[in-house]
Amino acid sequence: AAKRKGRNTWQVFNPELAQQQHDRVQIEAQLRRALDNGEFRLVFQPLVSLGDGRVRTAEALIRWHNPTLGEIPPDHFISHAETTGDIVRIGAWVIEAACRQMAAWRDAGLPLERVAVNVSYRQFLTEDLVQTIAHALREHGLPGSALELEFTERVLIEDAPDTLNTFEALRALGVVLTIDDFGEGYSALNYLRRLPIHGLKLAHSFLQGVPANPSDVAICQAVAGMARGLGLDVVAEGVESPAQRDFLLGLGIATGQGFLFSPGLEPDSFAAYLRQAGLRVPEATHD
Ligand code: C2E
Ligand code: MG
Ligand code: MG
Ligand code: MG
Repeated sequence: AAKRKGRNTWQVFNPELAQQQHDRVQIEAQLRRALDNGEFRLVFQPLVSLGDGRVRTAEALIRWHNPTLGEIPPDHFISHAETTGDIVRIGAWVIEAACRQMAAWRDAGLPLERVAVNVSYRQFLTEDLVQTIAHALREHGLPGSALELEFTERVLIEDAPDTLNTFEALRALGVVLTIDDFGEGYSALNYLRRLPIHGLKLAHSFLQGVPANPSDVAICQAVAGMARGLGLDVVAEGVESPAQRDFLLGLGIATGQGFLFSPGLEPDSFAAYLRQAGLRVPEATHD
């Protein structure tokens, strides 16, 4: 057995790594052309008021369909796009496309207050982020308050010299600024009192063990209490069960998103969901 293992060592040594390397090269090559080929689209996930089921905000989530690679989830390509720098163009496209969809919905009389867009670290560092956003709002006749930007904590922790200026310029446009995946990976809290942040999205890893896991429960309670003290809105991500929803309501967390309500939807399905929102609050169950 040892011999066989020895002979095959070079094969079993690295196939996973080799595969990863191969995937990376493929993805990065395809990424370069994806935008020009029109391979991206956005889906929209409702942020639901936990008390009455109403929806005021949609989160835009990018989807990539490539003819060779198929459907590639954002967790599998956003980091590559950051490495290559393609994220800057892709991110600008997302802002443009989200504003265009928001304007179309407003024209159609859909009662949606705003659309939230994810902004990656690399994209945040580009000098013309504020300009790109101001331009997209103007182009589509939207007030800044119709757009929300979700930043990960990395943006705040690394604290580039211009972070505060950028945030203030965005706030001056009326844009709503939110911290995404709060609590995941970083834990400095200093920026919460320095930057004009509107709210936090509690990372869904903390909700997974709720209500059974005492540590997860404690973290959710702590975040809810801190946010209340700081006057920050909290959105819970990854709400999958009525028990989780009820737990969040008990903490005074008013808004959630997750598969209990809806996954990301194509624009037409989203509009249909929104028209019915509030008419069908999921049943509370306690199991
Ligand atoms: P995120 O911004 O935290 O988005 C929420 C993710 O959780 C989405 O995954 C969503 O489909 C998923 N999700 C929603 N409800 C549930 C639930 O109940 N349970 C579970 N397990 N998951 C749920 P998605 O669309 O695959 O996106 C993954 C991440 O990729 C996003 O996390 C965001 O960080 C990034 N991303 C997506 N779109 C964009 C984009 O346009 N630009 C940038 N820079 N990043 C994006
Ligand atoms: Mg997000
Ligand atoms: Mg998130
Ligand atoms: Mg996430």
